[in-house]
Amino acid sequence: MATVETTAGPVPADRITGTTLAHEHLAIDLRTPEDAAGTLAQEADIIDEMRDCRERFGLSLVVDLTCRGMGRDVEAVDRIARAAGIHAVVSTGYYYQKFHRPEVARLDVEALAADLVEEIETGCDGTRIRPGLLGEIGSHGETPTPAEERSLRASALAAVATGLSVATHAHLGNGGLGQFELLLSCGLAPHRISIGHQDLWRDAAQHRAIAEQGGYVAFDTFGKNSYRPDQERVTALLGFIEAGYAERALLSNDVSRDSYLRVNGGTGYSHVLDTTAATLRAAGVDQPTMELLFRRNLVRFLTGEQS
Ligand SMILES: [Zn+2]
Repeated sequence: MATVETTAGPVPADRITGTTLAHEHLAIDLRTPEDAAGTLAQEADIIDEMRDCRERFGLSLVVDLTCRGMGRDVEAVDRIARAAGIHAVVSTGYYYQKFHRPEVARLDVEALAADLVEEIETGCDGTRIRPGLLGEIGSHGETPTPAEERSLRASALAAVATGLSVATHAHLGNGGLGQFELLLSCGLAPHRISIGHQDLWRDAAQHRAIAEQGGYVAFDTFGKNSYRPDQERVTALLGFIEAGYAERALLSNDVSRDSYLRVNGGTGYSHVLDTTAATLRAAGVDQPTMELLFRRNLVRFLTGEQS
Protein backbone atom coordinates (compact mmCIF):
# COMPACT_ATOMS: atom_id res chain seq x y z
CA MET A 1 0.00 0.00 0.00
CA ALA A 2 1.34 3.40 -0.98
CA THR A 3 1.87 5.83 1.88
CA VAL A 4 2.03 9.58 2.29
CA GLU A 5 4.76 10.92 4.59
CA THR A 6 2.98 13.26 7.05
CA THR A 7 4.25 15.18 10.08
CA ALA A 8 2.99 12.26 12.19
CA GLY A 9 4.75 9.65 10.02
CA PRO A 10 3.67 7.58 7.02
CA VAL A 11 -0.09 7.32 6.44
CA PRO A 12 -1.58 4.74 4.05
CA ALA A 13 -3.13 6.47 1.05
CA ASP A 14 -6.49 4.81 1.67
CA ARG A 15 -6.71 6.57 5.04
CA ILE A 16 -6.94 9.92 3.26
CA THR A 17 -10.64 9.77 2.66
CA GLY A 18 -11.69 13.42 2.74
CA THR A 19 -10.86 16.56 0.82
CA THR A 20 -7.31 17.89 0.41
CA LEU A 21 -5.44 21.15 -0.18
CA ALA A 22 -2.42 20.86 -2.52
CA HIS A 23 -0.54 24.11 -1.82
CA GLU A 24 -0.89 25.97 1.45
CA HIS A 25 1.29 27.37 4.21
CA LEU A 26 0.48 26.84 7.88
CA ALA A 27 3.55 28.67 9.20
CA ILE A 28 5.78 30.92 7.10
CA ASP A 29 8.02 33.95 7.48
CA LEU A 30 8.90 35.78 4.26
CA ARG A 31 9.31 39.18 5.86
CA THR A 32 11.73 41.56 4.12
CA PRO A 33 12.42 45.27 4.68
CA GLU A 34 9.93 46.01 1.87
CA ASP A 35 7.31 43.57 3.17
CA ALA A 36 7.09 43.68 6.95
CA ALA A 37 3.71 41.85 6.93
CA GLY A 38 4.86 38.79 4.97
CA THR A 39 4.31 36.33 7.76
CA LEU A 40 1.73 33.73 8.80
CA ALA A 41 1.86 33.06 12.52
CA GLN A 42 -1.63 33.35 14.07
CA GLU A 43 -1.54 29.70 15.10
CA ALA A 44 -4.76 29.60 17.12
CA ASP A 45 -6.71 31.17 14.25
CA ILE A 46 -5.13 28.77 11.75
CA ILE A 47 -6.15 25.82 13.93
CA ASP A 48 -9.71 27.19 14.06
CA GLU A 49 -9.83 27.42 10.26
CA MET A 50 -8.38 23.92 9.76
CA ARG A 51 -10.88 22.47 12.22
CA ASP A 52 -13.71 24.29 10.46
CA CYS A 53 -12.49 22.92 7.09
CA ARG A 54 -12.55 19.40 8.54
CA GLU A 55 -15.97 19.76 10.10
CA ARG A 56 -17.72 21.46 7.19
CA PHE A 57 -15.84 20.11 4.14
CA GLY A 58 -14.25 16.87 5.34
CA LEU A 59 -10.70 18.21 5.07
CA SER A 60 -8.30 15.29 5.50
CA LEU A 61 -4.88 16.46 4.29
CA VAL A 62 -3.01 19.74 3.72
CA VAL A 63 0.32 20.11 1.92
CA ASP A 64 2.49 22.87 3.41
CA LEU A 65 4.92 23.98 0.70
CA THR A 66 7.12 26.10 2.99
CA CYS A 67 10.72 25.09 2.29
CA ARG A 68 14.23 26.22 3.23
CA GLY A 69 14.63 29.99 3.43
CA MET A 70 10.88 30.61 3.85
CA GLY A 71 10.78 30.58 7.65
CA ARG A 72 9.70 26.94 7.70
CA ASP A 73 8.43 25.67 11.08
CA VAL A 74 7.57 21.99 10.81
CA GLU A 75 6.78 21.68 14.52
CA ALA A 76 4.16 24.41 14.21
CA VAL A 77 2.67 22.60 11.20
CA ASP A 78 2.55 19.38 13.22
CA ARG A 79 0.90 21.11 16.19
CA ILE A 80 -1.74 22.65 13.94
CA ALA A 81 -2.46 19.33 12.21
CA ARG A 82 -2.81 17.45 15.49
CA ALA A 83 -5.01 20.12 17.08
CA ALA A 84 -7.27 20.25 14.02
CA GLY A 85 -7.45 16.47 13.47
CA ILE A 86 -6.03 16.52 9.95
CA HIS A 87 -2.91 15.17 8.20
CA ALA A 88 -0.22 17.64 7.11
CA VAL A 89 2.72 17.13 4.76
CA VAL A 90 5.82 19.36 4.92
CA SER A 91 8.39 19.99 2.23
CA THR A 92 12.00 20.76 1.46
CA GLY A 93 14.02 22.45 -1.26
CA TYR A 94 14.48 26.09 -2.22
CA TYR A 95 12.04 28.84 -3.21
CA TYR A 96 13.03 31.40 -5.87
CA GLN A 97 16.41 33.11 -5.77
CA LYS A 98 15.51 36.10 -3.59
CA PHE A 99 14.91 33.64 -0.74
CA HIS A 100 17.78 31.21 -1.36
CA ARG A 101 19.94 30.26 1.58
CA PRO A 102 23.69 30.84 1.02
CA GLU A 103 24.51 27.19 0.26
CA VAL A 104 22.70 27.39 -3.08
CA ALA A 105 25.40 29.76 -4.35
CA ARG A 106 28.18 27.61 -2.89
CA LEU A 107 27.25 24.00 -3.68
CA ASP A 108 26.99 22.20 -7.00
CA VAL A 109 23.90 20.24 -8.05
CA GLU A 110 25.10 16.91 -6.68
CA ALA A 111 26.04 18.36 -3.28
CA LEU A 112 22.73 20.22 -3.01
CA ALA A 113 20.86 17.03 -3.89
CA ALA A 114 22.80 15.02 -1.29
CA ASP A 115 21.94 17.60 1.37
CA LEU A 116 18.24 17.43 0.45
CA VAL A 117 18.29 13.63 0.50
CA GLU A 118 19.79 13.68 3.98
CA GLU A 119 17.00 15.93 5.23
CA ILE A 120 14.36 13.75 3.56
CA GLU A 121 15.79 10.67 5.26
CA THR A 122 16.45 12.13 8.73
CA GLY A 123 14.02 15.03 9.27
CA CYS A 124 13.82 18.82 8.97
CA ASP A 125 15.62 21.37 11.13
CA GLY A 126 16.75 19.01 13.86
CA THR A 127 13.34 17.33 14.24
CA ARG A 128 12.27 13.84 13.21
CA ILE A 129 9.57 15.29 10.96
CA ARG A 130 10.37 14.21 7.42
CA PRO A 131 9.37 16.01 4.22
CA GLY A 132 6.72 14.29 2.10
CA LEU A 133 7.70 16.11 -1.08
CA LEU A 134 9.99 18.82 -2.48
CA GLY A 135 8.41 22.25 -2.95
CA GLU A 136 7.75 24.98 -3.62
CA ILE A 137 10.85 24.90 -5.82
CA GLY A 138 11.02 28.34 -7.35
CA SER A 139 12.02 30.32 -10.38
CA HIS A 140 10.81 33.83 -11.12
CA GLY A 141 11.27 34.55 -14.81
CA GLU A 142 10.69 33.06 -18.23
CA THR A 143 13.79 30.93 -17.58
CA PRO A 144 15.41 30.09 -14.21
CA THR A 145 18.55 31.94 -13.08
CA PRO A 146 21.68 29.72 -12.85
CA ALA A 147 21.12 29.31 -9.09
CA GLU A 148 17.42 28.49 -9.59
CA GLU A 149 18.37 25.96 -12.25
CA ARG A 150 20.77 24.25 -9.82
CA SER A 151 18.01 24.16 -7.20
CA LEU A 152 15.51 22.65 -9.68
CA ARG A 153 18.03 20.05 -10.87
CA ALA A 154 19.02 19.14 -7.30
CA SER A 155 15.34 18.74 -6.39
CA ALA A 156 14.79 16.38 -9.30
CA LEU A 157 17.82 14.27 -8.32
CA ALA A 158 16.72 14.17 -4.66
CA ALA A 159 13.17 13.23 -5.69
CA VAL A 160 14.40 10.38 -7.90
CA ALA A 161 16.68 9.14 -5.10
CA THR A 162 13.96 9.17 -2.43
CA GLY A 163 10.79 8.41 -4.38
CA LEU A 164 9.17 11.78 -3.65
CA SER A 165 7.51 14.32 -5.97
CA VAL A 166 8.37 17.94 -6.81
CA ALA A 167 5.95 20.89 -6.70
CA THR A 168 7.18 24.17 -8.17
CA HIS A 169 6.62 27.89 -7.77
CA ALA A 170 6.49 29.43 -11.25
CA HIS A 171 6.32 33.15 -10.43
CA LEU A 172 2.88 34.37 -11.52
CA GLY A 173 2.76 31.20 -13.65
CA ASN A 174 5.69 32.33 -15.79
CA GLY A 175 8.24 29.78 -17.01
CA GLY A 176 6.16 26.79 -15.93
CA LEU A 177 6.69 24.74 -19.07
CA GLY A 178 10.44 25.37 -18.88
CA GLN A 179 10.49 24.13 -15.27
CA PHE A 180 8.61 21.00 -16.31
CA GLU A 181 11.00 20.23 -19.17
CA LEU A 182 14.06 20.88 -16.99
CA LEU A 183 12.81 18.49 -14.28
CA LEU A 184 11.99 15.86 -16.91
CA SER A 185 15.49 16.23 -18.39
CA CYS A 186 16.93 15.28 -14.98
CA GLY A 187 15.14 11.93 -15.08
CA LEU A 188 12.10 12.79 -12.95
CA ALA A 189 8.90 11.12 -14.20
CA PRO A 190 6.15 13.52 -15.36
CA HIS A 191 3.59 12.21 -12.84
CA ARG A 192 6.08 13.23 -10.09
CA ILE A 193 5.90 16.91 -11.13
CA SER A 194 3.36 19.62 -10.29
CA ILE A 195 3.87 23.05 -11.85
CA GLY A 196 2.64 25.81 -9.56
CA HIS A 197 0.55 28.95 -9.95
CA GLN A 198 -0.67 28.01 -13.42
CA ASP A 199 -4.03 29.67 -12.69
CA LEU A 200 -2.11 32.96 -12.91
CA TRP A 201 -0.92 32.11 -16.44
CA ARG A 202 -3.47 32.99 -19.08
CA ASP A 203 -2.17 30.84 -21.94
CA ALA A 204 -3.98 27.50 -21.74
CA ALA A 205 -1.51 25.99 -24.23
CA GLN A 206 1.09 25.82 -21.44
CA HIS A 207 -1.36 23.97 -19.15
CA ARG A 208 -2.24 21.47 -21.86
CA ALA A 209 1.39 20.86 -22.84
CA ILE A 210 2.23 19.93 -19.23
CA ALA A 211 -0.89 17.78 -18.79
CA GLU A 212 -0.50 16.10 -22.17
CA GLN A 213 2.94 14.85 -21.12
CA GLY A 214 1.56 13.54 -17.81
CA GLY A 215 2.44 16.34 -15.39
CA TYR A 216 0.17 18.04 -12.84
CA VAL A 217 -1.04 21.61 -13.32
CA ALA A 218 -1.69 23.54 -10.10
CA PHE A 219 -4.64 25.93 -9.95
CA ASP A 220 -3.48 26.94 -6.51
CA THR A 221 -4.25 30.61 -5.86
CA PHE A 222 -8.06 30.59 -5.54
CA GLY A 223 -9.20 33.63 -3.60
CA LYS A 224 -6.28 35.86 -4.64
CA ASN A 225 -8.51 38.15 -6.64
CA SER A 226 -5.97 40.98 -6.63
CA TYR A 227 -3.73 38.79 -8.82
CA ARG A 228 -6.54 37.55 -11.04
CA PRO A 229 -10.33 37.35 -10.57
CA ASP A 230 -11.55 33.92 -9.42
CA GLN A 231 -14.10 33.90 -12.23
CA GLU A 232 -11.23 33.70 -14.75
CA ARG A 233 -9.57 30.91 -12.73
CA VAL A 234 -12.78 28.89 -12.82
CA THR A 235 -13.17 29.45 -16.56
CA ALA A 236 -9.59 28.30 -17.16
CA LEU A 237 -10.09 25.21 -14.97
CA LEU A 238 -13.37 24.30 -16.68
CA GLY A 239 -11.63 24.55 -20.07
CA PHE A 240 -8.86 22.30 -18.80
CA ILE A 241 -11.40 19.73 -17.58
CA GLU A 242 -13.35 19.89 -20.84
CA ALA A 243 -10.12 19.25 -22.77
CA GLY A 244 -9.88 15.93 -20.90
CA TYR A 245 -7.35 16.78 -18.19
CA ALA A 246 -9.39 16.52 -14.97
CA GLU A 247 -6.90 13.93 -13.69
CA ARG A 248 -4.04 16.41 -13.93
CA ALA A 249 -5.35 19.40 -11.92
CA LEU A 250 -4.43 20.22 -8.31
CA LEU A 251 -6.40 22.86 -6.39
CA SER A 252 -5.58 25.15 -3.44
CA ASN A 253 -5.62 28.70 -2.02
CA ASP A 254 -1.90 29.25 -1.19
CA VAL A 255 -2.68 31.09 2.07
CA SER A 256 0.69 32.70 2.76
CA ARG A 257 0.19 35.58 5.21
CA ASP A 258 -1.98 36.42 8.19
CA SER A 259 -4.00 38.93 6.16
CA TYR A 260 -5.47 36.04 4.13
CA LEU A 261 -7.01 34.49 7.26
CA ARG A 262 -10.77 34.85 7.68
CA VAL A 263 -10.38 36.46 11.10
CA ASN A 264 -8.51 39.28 9.34
CA GLY A 265 -11.06 39.66 6.56
CA GLY A 266 -9.42 37.28 4.07
CA THR A 267 -10.97 34.36 2.18
CA GLY A 268 -9.00 31.78 4.22
CA TYR A 269 -8.29 28.09 3.71
CA SER A 270 -11.93 27.05 3.20
CA HIS A 271 -12.42 29.21 0.11
CA VAL A 272 -11.56 26.62 -2.54
CA LEU A 273 -13.47 23.86 -0.68
CA ASP A 274 -16.52 26.07 -0.23
CA THR A 275 -17.03 28.85 -2.79
CA THR A 276 -14.97 27.36 -5.61
CA ALA A 277 -16.42 23.85 -5.17
CA ALA A 278 -19.96 25.27 -5.24
CA THR A 279 -19.16 27.23 -8.41
CA LEU A 280 -17.77 24.12 -10.11
CA ARG A 281 -20.80 22.04 -9.13
CA ALA A 282 -23.13 24.74 -10.43
CA ALA A 283 -21.18 24.69 -13.71
CA GLY A 284 -21.99 20.98 -14.08
CA VAL A 285 -18.81 19.32 -12.79
CA ASP A 286 -19.92 15.85 -11.66
CA GLN A 287 -19.08 14.12 -8.39
CA PRO A 288 -16.42 11.72 -9.80
CA THR A 289 -14.58 14.73 -11.23
CA MET A 290 -14.89 16.64 -7.94
CA GLU A 291 -13.37 13.59 -6.23
CA LEU A 292 -10.37 13.81 -8.57
CA LEU A 293 -9.93 17.56 -8.09
CA PHE A 294 -10.30 17.63 -4.31
CA ARG A 295 -8.76 14.32 -3.23
CA ARG A 296 -7.61 11.69 -5.65
CA ASN A 297 -5.20 13.73 -7.79
CA LEU A 298 -3.18 15.01 -4.82
CA VAL A 299 -2.94 11.57 -3.20
CA ARG A 300 -1.79 10.16 -6.54
CA PHE A 301 0.77 12.95 -6.96
CA LEU A 302 2.22 12.41 -3.46
CA THR A 303 2.39 8.62 -3.65
CA GLY A 304 3.50 8.39 -7.26
CA GLU A 305 0.64 6.10 -8.20
CA GLN A 306 -0.21 6.49 -11.85
CA SER A 307 -3.95 5.83 -11.73
ZN1 LIG B 1 3.05 29.03 -1.75
